[in-house]
Amino acid sequence: MLGAAAGGGFPQWNCGCKNCVRARSGDPAARPRTQASVAVSGDGARWLIVGASPDLRQQILANDVLAPPAGTRDSPIVGVVLVSADVDGIAGLLVLREQHRFRLFAPGAILKVLSENGIFASLDAALVDRVEIAPGVATDTGLGVMLTLLSMPGKVPLYQETERSAARADEAATYAARLESGGKICIVAPACADLTDAVVGQLADADVLFFDGTLFYDKEMIDAGLGWKTGRRMGHVSVSGADGALARLAGLQARKIFFHINNSNEMLLDDSAARREVEAAGFEVGYDGMRMRA
Ligand SMILES: [Zn+2]
Repeated sequence: MLGAAAGGGFPQWNCGCKNCVRARSGDPAARPRTQASVAVSGDGARWLIVGASPDLRQQILANDVLAPPAGTRDSPIVGVVLVSADVDGIAGLLVLREQHRFRLFAPGAILKVLSENGIFASLDAALVDRVEIAPGVATDTGLGVMLTLLSMPGKVPLYQETERSAARADEAATYAARLESGGKICIVAPACADLTDAVVGQLADADVLFFDGTLFYDKEMIDAGLGWKTGRRMGHVSVSGADGALARLAGLQARKIFFHINNSNEMLLDDSAARREVEAAGFEVGYDGMRMRA
C-alpha cells in the first residue's frame, strides 16, 4: 500500500477538520496517509503501480522494494496501471518522466485524456509504451501478472464534469484493476459508486481486495461542513449503511482492506467507533507502507 488516502491526502493541506488537526499534531492514533496507490508484484522483483498518485515520488522513496539496484540508474517499476483519469489517479505519471522505460496500461478513454493533455508528452513515447486495455478482457502484461480492468459504477473526473455527464451513471470512466499471478487474485478498486449484485460478483474471487473507503457515511462531507456533495454524487459508495461496503461485501472470502479514504472519514482514527465497527466486521483500514502476500 503506497497510499491509503483519497484525493487531498491526510491531512489535506487546506483542511482544519478535527481529523486533519489530529493528524497534523503528530497524534499516533491519526497517522498521516498519502493519496491512493498500490504496488503489486507477481515475482517480488518486477512491480506494477496501480494508480499514479500525485504523491508517487514520496511513495517510491518510502518503499525500499521500489528502490533502484545500487550502482544502476534503473527501477523495479516496470508498469503502471491507470484506473481513473482523476487528478489523483494520473498526476503521478509526471514523476516518472526521467528516461525510464515502462509500460502504461489503461483503457482507451484514459489514454485519450493523456494524449489530449500536452504535459503528458513528457513521458517519451519511445520509452513509455501505452497499452490500451479493453475492459473485461484478461490481458497478459508480459510482466508476470495478468490484468483485467473491471468497469465500476462511477462518474467522469471532476474537471470533465458537465451538468449532463454528472447525472449519467452509464458514462462511467472508473475501473478496478484485477491482477492475477500464481493463481492468486488481487483487486484494486479505489472508486465504486454502487455495489450492485453484478459488481459484488466481479469481486467474488479476489484473495485480496483493496476497496473504496472514501466516506464512512453518505452525507459525511455535508454534515462536517466540508462540502455540499453526498458520497454517491462524488462517485463513492459509503462504508456504512444498508447499501454500504461493510454490508454488501461481508460475504466475500477476500482479505478486505479499505483505501482511498477521505480525511473526513472517522475510521482513519485508531480510537474511533467507526474503526471498531470496520474491524468487528472483518475489514481492515489501510495505511501507507502496509504489506501483504496473497
Ligand atoms: Zn480534513
